[in-house]
Amino acid sequence: LLDADGRIAATIFAEMSALAARTGAINLGQGFPDEDGPAEVLEAARQAIADGVNQYPPGIGMPVLREAVAAHQRRWYGLEVDAASEVLVTAGATEALAATLLAFVDAGDEVVTFEPSYDAYAALVARAGGVHRTVPLRFPDWRPDPAELEAAVTDRTRVILVNSPHNPTGAVLDRETLELVVRLAERHDAIIVTDEVYEHLTFGARHTPIATLPGAWERTVSISSGGKTFSTTGWKIGWITAPASLVTAVLAVKQYLTFVNGAPFQPAIATGLGLPDAFFTDAAAELRAKRDLLAGGLEAAGFAVSRPEAGYFIVADAAPLGYRDGAVLCRELPERAGVVGVPVSAFVHPDRQDAYRSLVRFAFCKRHAVLEDATARLAGLA
Ligand code: PMP
Ligand code: GLN
Repeated sequence: LLDADGRIAATIFAEMSALAARTGAINLGQGFPDEDGPAEVLEAARQAIADGVNQYPPGIGMPVLREAVAAHQRRWYGLEVDAASEVLVTAGATEALAATLLAFVDAGDEVVTFEPSYDAYAALVARAGGVHRTVPLRFPDWRPDPAELEAAVTDRTRVILVNSPHNPTGAVLDRETLELVVRLAERHDAIIVTDEVYEHLTFGARHTPIATLPGAWERTVSISSGGKTFSTTGWKIGWITAPASLVTAVLAVKQYLTFVNGAPFQPAIATGLGLPDAFFTDAAAELRAKRDLLAGGLEAAGFAVSRPEAGYFIVADAAPLGYRDGAVLCRELPERAGVVGVPVSAFVHPDRQDAYRSLVRFAFCKRHAVLEDATARLAGLA
């Protein structure tokens, strides 16, 4: 977590956004949309501020949001969640991940994730004193090998941390894989933590919350957030849904991390969760068109592309362009093409870089004109 001189190493997202700002390149690095979310949601936040919702909310979250989360789980997934005891509001999915891992992982406990994985996972497992075990996902189809998954989970495993839809690959785990995760968690008495922040941003493949599978609910902490669904990544309103005993354990940690967060944004995200189905499906359809635009542009530029089934990102292989090292390409890309991406190596342990070295992640959660400009610039690379 600290570099050789004891300084905090900046996250790859902060580093790449700074590079984009410095060079004026188009920032397809950090995943945030360049358009605001739905007007009703923005207006609800303004209204809440005007109405004086500006002091500490309850530690577990405001009732209006906990009820909206419970209603959302029922509407989309048929899950019955008790708003009073089985929902906890957090400062984004990030705090939900941090508080959950700190709550359940003791020194030496193992945490199994797929790899590549969102960069916060390795950092938080380390912070909790845990040992990070990984199961590889391989370009371009990212399907995990069931035998490798089975071998990674043992009696030392405290948590299996899954992320579907997945960052950075855009893969959606299939039902068989999710069922295997549940079976392994039962066999080894592990807790399942599932990061589903891209739950609504799918392009055909359906998202199945692992908590809906038989045997899963009682040992699962499900994490989501309003940032992606409502294009409000700066608001940091996230939540967990889990059995009351697990919620209590996570709340015990959260109360000394942030205590509470985001009072006026909580009712606003509740408004968002109550929007009609069409909002969610239209947003996914719009994003799908952006995926196609950027995927086509990257292919035309000479990259080999893995077309994602969900999320904000495309992973592209720069090897056909003669680049063996994505990190080198990402450093040169602002000058060579006026675009910023993120090397996939940032999502992989330093000892296991080989299979990922020439891969670069590009975000497509940007306006059409921006993506068209970016693909035109990338066309000059070949
Ligand atoms: N999990 C994944 C997989 C993500 O991509 C992100 C980043 N947006 C987060 C968690 C963090 O979410 P939040 O901004 O709600 O903390
Ligand atoms: N989740 C976003 C990404 O993967 C940004 C997260 C961050 O900046 N920490 O790009």
